[in-house]
Amino acid sequence: MGAGTETGSSRNSLTAAGEGMRPVRNDGRSRVPADDTKEQIGLIDVDSHNFPNIPLMKISAWHKAQGDSVEWYDPMIASVTYAKRDFYYDKVYMSKIFSFTPDYEHCVISKELQRGGSGYCIETVNGKEIFHPERDLQLPPEIEHIYPDYSIYPELTKETAYGFMSRGCPRGCGFCHVEAKEGKRSYKVADLSEFWRGQRNIVLLDPNPIACPEWQDILQQLIDSGSWVDFTQGVDIRLMTEEKALMIKGIKTKNIHFAWDRYEDKDSIIPKLRMFKEVTGYDFRKLTVYVLCNFNTTIEQDLERIYTLRDLGYNPFVMLYNKEDIPKNHKLRQLQRWVNNRIVFNSCKRFEDFDCRK
Ligand code: SF4
Repeated sequence: MGAGTETGSSRNSLTAAGEGMRPVRNDGRSRVPADDTKEQIGLIDVDSHNFPNIPLMKISAWHKAQGDSVEWYDPMIASVTYAKRDFYYDKVYMSKIFSFTPDYEHCVISKELQRGGSGYCIETVNGKEIFHPERDLQLPPEIEHIYPDYSIYPELTKETAYGFMSRGCPRGCGFCHVEAKEGKRSYKVADLSEFWRGQRNIVLLDPNPIACPEWQDILQQLIDSGSWVDFTQGVDIRLMTEEKALMIKGIKTKNIHFAWDRYEDKDSIIPKLRMFKEVTGYDFRKLTVYVLCNFNTTIEQDLERIYTLRDLGYNPFVMLYNKEDIPKNHKLRQLQRWVNNRIVFNSCKRFEDFDCRK
């Protein structure tokens, strides 16, 4: 991993090297805090910067509140300083959310290093992903519940707030890590105001908000916000009632995602999808249903779900379990290409007629 130490385990031996020698940058960018009680913090978003990393935004907010200096980790300044037998960073935080992201490839030089995130907890064994909760570091409450420092992702967070109002899910689906990570029940963790201050858009990351006993309170806060809400993890159609559908209708949404992952849920899902459409009056442009394939269904069952959803007036969207292990021209990849390209899917009604070479 480099010169850094995980959660400060060998911090003392490394601290001695730089004691009393505060490096000062002369490149005009932020400098090491002049006050010795303050720290220079480095952040590494291992997954790149395409989606804001919430733990890093909270860590940044907390350190800034302590008067520390926070910036993206710069390997150059860290190694130049280290060559002068000193440390530029007092502490570096690395966060990785996705298991498929390769780990950070550079050496990390810091007095202290802390790595965290689901990406470090998931391992693929015989084609199945296993989540190791013992590797999952939780943020302390004073950091977990702080208003995120959106300024570290200025473009991605323009007029947009990101966060969780509830965590956990009672379902325990075999292809999902929520149970191992957050528990087999849904529980409220925050009011909207914890991460939203009037932004026009809200990106809600709750795994199953309408399974939460306080679902009414959560939905009401979203209605009252008047902001556009993106339920990124979808809404559990099996738990839909007319009351919930009416409240969801009161929330500004561009699209609602459901999931029909388990073929055997057919009899409970179809009437709920019908009811939701009747209550909200939404048309297919606003209604997407994820269809998980390559987990435990046959291609016939996949096609049945896809055709049924189209007949019900919903947009199916194929998700492939363990996609990295599916060969390039496999039928399932073709199925995904056909369904997920709206223009192709609407012009070619049957998968059998789909020519993937076009
Ligand atoms: S319902 Fe969704 S969040 Fe809950 S366990 Fe299944 S896939 Fe995960």
